[in-house]
Amino acid sequence: MFQRLAFTFFLIVLTLTCQVTSHQVKPFLAEKLTEEIPLSPKPKTWIEFQVIKAADWETSLAGLLDLENPKAKAAGLKDRLEPISIYFYLIKHPKYGTFLIDSGVGDIFTKDKNEIPINSIVESQLHFSKLKIYETTKVYLSKNKIDVKGIFFTHLHLDHTLGAYELDRSVPFYVGPGEVTKKQFINLFVQGSTNRLLGENPNLFQLDFGKEPSEIGVLDFFGDESFYVISVPGHTPGSLAFFIPAKDGAHLVLGDSCHTQWGWKEGVTPGTFTSDHKLNQKSLDYLKRLENTNQLKFVYPGHQERIQILGKR
Ligand SMILES: [Zn+2]
Repeated sequence: MFQRLAFTFFLIVLTLTCQVTSHQVKPFLAEKLTEEIPLSPKPKTWIEFQVIKAADWETSLAGLLDLENPKAKAAGLKDRLEPISIYFYLIKHPKYGTFLIDSGVGDIFTKDKNEIPINSIVESQLHFSKLKIYETTKVYLSKNKIDVKGIFFTHLHLDHTLGAYELDRSVPFYVGPGEVTKKQFINLFVQGSTNRLLGENPNLFQLDFGKEPSEIGVLDFFGDESFYVISVPGHTPGSLAFFIPAKDGAHLVLGDSCHTQWGWKEGVTPGTFTSDHKLNQKSLDYLKRLENTNQLKFVYPGHQERIQILGKR
C-alpha cells in the first residue's frame, strides 16, 4: 500500500515538474511593447515576407477543429483524416537580416524511419510514414544562401520543431511567454522528443511581454513597425502569431491558434490539440478582429493554404 502511494506521489511530482523541454531557456525582455497593432503601421522599412511549404501530411480533424463547437456540429463535421501541410516562413529585414518563423523539416525525416529522433509512442500517434517532404530546411537555406539570424517558434509542438536540430547552435530560438517554463502533463510524453528536435544546447529565449501569461500582448520586435509578434496564449501557453505590414495589405500568420481555413472563416478553435480552449478562443477572437480593423492581404492558418482577404470582399 505504502509503495503504491509513494509511486503515485512520484508520478504526480514528475508530471508537475515536466516542461516541454528541459533545455536551458533565457528570458528575453522586449523593449518595444505596444498595446495594440497600429491601425495603419508606417514601417521605416518593409519586410520581405515569404511562405514555404515544407511537407504535406494528414491528421485527425478532431485534433484540428473543436467538433463540439455548435458551428462544427451544424456543419455536420465528423472526425476523419484531414490533409494538412507543414510550413515555415521567411522574414527578410533589410537591416537586421533574415529570420524564420518555425523550423520546417530536417533531413533525417527523409531517411530511414528508425533514425527519426522521436519516441515510438509519439511516432505511432503522428504517422511520420504519411509525411511527404518537399523541402528540408538546411538544404533550402543553403540553396538560397540564407544566413539565418533567428527563429521565432509559433509554439514548440513537434510538428513545428522538425528542422530545428539542423540549424547552427548560435542562432537564437525565440518562443512565447511560458512556452518552456509552464509545466503540463502531456510534456511527460513529448519532452524527450522536443529536446532532441531542438538539438544540443539550443540558444533558447523566452519572450517576455510584461503581462500576465493569460493576456494578449504585442511586440514591435525590430522597433520600426515592420514586424509585430503577438502573444496569443491558449493552443499552448506561449503560442505566437505574427503581423507583417506590407504595402498592399498585411500578412497575418496565425500559428496553431487556428489550424484550418474553415476554423478561421467560422472562428472555431482547434480541437484536442489545444491545451486551453477558452484562452485559445479569446486569442482567436482577437486575431479575427484584426480582419476588421486592419488592412489584411493574406491570413495564414497553421496547417492549410493562406486565405486571401483583400480583393475578396
Ligand atoms: Zn502544428
